Amino acid sequence: MELLDLVKKIEESKNIVVLTGAGISHESGIPTFRGKDGLWEKYKPEELATPWAFEKNPKLVWEWYNYRREIIAKAKPNECHYLIAELEKEKDLTLITQNIDGLHELAGSRDIIELHGNIWRVKCTKCSYKEINRDVPLKEIPPKCPKCVGLLRPDVVWFGEPLPTEELNDAMELSAKCDLFIVIGTSLVVQPAGSLPFIALENRAFVVEVNPEETILSQRAHLFFKMKAVEFARRFKEVWKELC
Ligand code: NAD
Ligand code: ZN
Repeated sequence: MELLDLVKKIEESKNIVVLTGAGISHESGIPTFRGKDGLWEKYKPEELATPWAFEKNPKLVWEWYNYRREIIAKAKPNECHYLIAELEKEKDLTLITQNIDGLHELAGSRDIIELHGNIWRVKCTKCSYKEINRDVPLKEIPPKCPKCVGLLRPDVVWFGEPLPTEELNDAMELSAKCDLFIVIGTSLVVQPAGSLPFIALENRAFVVEVNPEETILSQRAHLFFKMKAVEFARRFKEVWKELC
């Protein structure tokens, strides 16, 4: 039985990496980029989450982020976020996430590499000012820097922007070194995050994927659980508890 294989693999692994994407937070009520998203359906995320969109219309981009912040503020971690936090207590496990929603931290994960930033952090477009801003809704749109005349922007990685160097280097190194790599809820189409499981495969890690849809990894993964994150977490925990 595949879940049993995974539980055993986790027991014997020394370095585990978990990579998550928007899919893990879907059942917490946060839409993915490739799903339908009512109000903003007429815009593609690729048209809003870019430095060019911000330059052209910072108000529109901030209104979209304000809307996303409202959804995320109401969301709670689900059983799969909690499962990863629980596993971290037992094993040497690093979580690499493409999500900007902060739900992993809320669930108790501590060793987290946020590859694409965090929606609650804002930074100035002109100076080095940064702050945590949890105002929902924002007091002014677009918000201004308190230190200079610049506009503030979300401290997230937009399409066309490089990833933070240290985070990306750590993520690549860990992917190459780990013996077990678990991917949950990502389409793997956004690069360079999408190449991390392939780095793990090349370096002979055991690779596991959880996704209700097939991705470019599914055929090559050692185990593919074609299911949603919460269902996976529930089934996994049943088997895990039985063995402990
Ligand atoms: P994506 O939207 O490209 O893909 C989502 C994937 O999740 C799909 O493969 C889908 O089949 C799968 N999925 C859907 N429901 C699922 C479920 N219940 N359980 C497990 N998997 C499920 O997302 P991505 O690969 O993370 O890449 C898109 C970019 O979008 C990332 O850069 C990320 O920062 C950003 N994003 C983040 C959030 C968030 O923070 N929650 C939300 C939307 C987009
Ligand atoms: Zn400034």
